[in-house]
Amino acid sequence: MALQSVRGFHDILGDDILRFKKVSGTARSVLKRHNFEEIVLPVVEYAELFQRSIGEVTDIVQKEMFVFKDRKGRVLALRPEGTAGTVRAFIQHKLYAKRPYTKLFYEGPMFRYERPQAGRYRQFHQIGAEVFGVQEPTADAEVISVVYKILNSLGIEAVIEINSLGCKECRPAYRQALKEFLSTKEENLCKDCVSRKERNPLRVLDCKEKSCQMTVKDAPKTVDFLCDSCNEHFNKLKELLTELSIPYRENSNLVRGLDYYTRTVFEAVAESLDTTVIAGGRYDYLVEELGGPPTPALGFAVGIERLSLLLKEIEEQEGLYIVIPFGNVQGYALEVAEKLRNKGKRVEFSYRKGGLRKQLEFADKLRAKFAVIIGEDEMREGVVTLKDMESGEQSKIKADEIV
Ligand code: ATP
Ligand code: MG
Repeated sequence: MALQSVRGFHDILGDDILRFKKVSGTARSVLKRHNFEEIVLPVVEYAELFQRSIGEVTDIVQKEMFVFKDRKGRVLALRPEGTAGTVRAFIQHKLYAKRPYTKLFYEGPMFRYERPQAGRYRQFHQIGAEVFGVQEPTADAEVISVVYKILNSLGIEAVIEINSLGCKECRPAYRQALKEFLSTKEENLCKDCVSRKERNPLRVLDCKEKSCQMTVKDAPKTVDFLCDSCNEHFNKLKELLTELSIPYRENSNLVRGLDYYTRTVFEAVAESLDTTVIAGGRYDYLVEELGGPPTPALGFAVGIERLSLLLKEIEEQEGLYIVIPFGNVQGYALEVAEKLRNKGKRVEFSYRKGGLRKQLEFADKLRAKFAVIIGEDEMREGVVTLKDMESGEQSKIKADEIV
């Protein structure tokens, strides 16, 4: 049997690569304008890093991590997300001692053992950003505005939903109220949620089972339990978003699937796909919990494949020139191709054999913008025949003047 890629692991090629690059390039350009610096993180970390940060009672840690032992028996994991690694690096390199605050972004593959389906893979790619050391809601607004600009620049329709989960002061009372509510609804919850409701009741709000989703509609709301300072933070954030003309919707059931979040959480939801495409939030205790100094922080991650699915027609930005040598003109035609390349043009030198018709069919197949046809007459006169592949117009011009 011919070898196939592993279930849930995909090759990305053809037009999908153009979409992928467009999402990545757009996100990078927005992040650059906001002065985020890149960090390239390892794909493998100690499994413990994710257990301690994402949380034991989460889908990612309980069901989705690729965990393995190396030859020395170290328990390692393929990273399921990028925040934990970024926090680990922030602490390990003492970045907190270098600047009053730090803004980083990363891009790369993430791995989760999920049931593969459209927009859900076992290896997928994220581009994400983190801000360390800023308490003020201005940072929350900046991060959400980055998300908004990425969506906007890509022309993707998605609604930004926000919520506040409170802090150490106010979360316990909420947790208790939610627990009490859920214990009266046990018969309506899925098997997982019956056990979650004791150990991690907030997780129930995030369950994808219909019956659980219906049940939690009437659950107590985090926003009704916020302490004064969380309330103030959330209200200020909403004011800032309005000032920045960023449309948003409050969703009091939004909790996110990871334990480390505090205060602001947000998601960009694409209604046409009925899924989240970008997600993030604040995690003010995580740096300290992983052994660093107390450092408020927040971030988000873009699902590159999911956003790519929402991009419509796509074409390569830089139009293609195809140089078509015809007869005994190889040297001259190569020279012309090199001239164009030196001018920064994208150039294919055709190796296709056959008559001019076959060559032009090939040019169409490559979606070339211009065919540069070079026969022996052209060589003798020091010209080329330039054909606009879209309009079909063609003219002889001096080789030096094509661009
Ligand atoms: P979901 O609720 O859809 O499982 P999530 O809450 O697990 O998403 P995050 O961990 O917040 O997702 O990751 C951020 C983004 O990464 C998601 O919004 C999505 O676009 C993308 N993503 C997450 N898991 C996958 C996957 N298995 N395949 C493709 N993209 C994914
Ligand atoms: Mg998930």
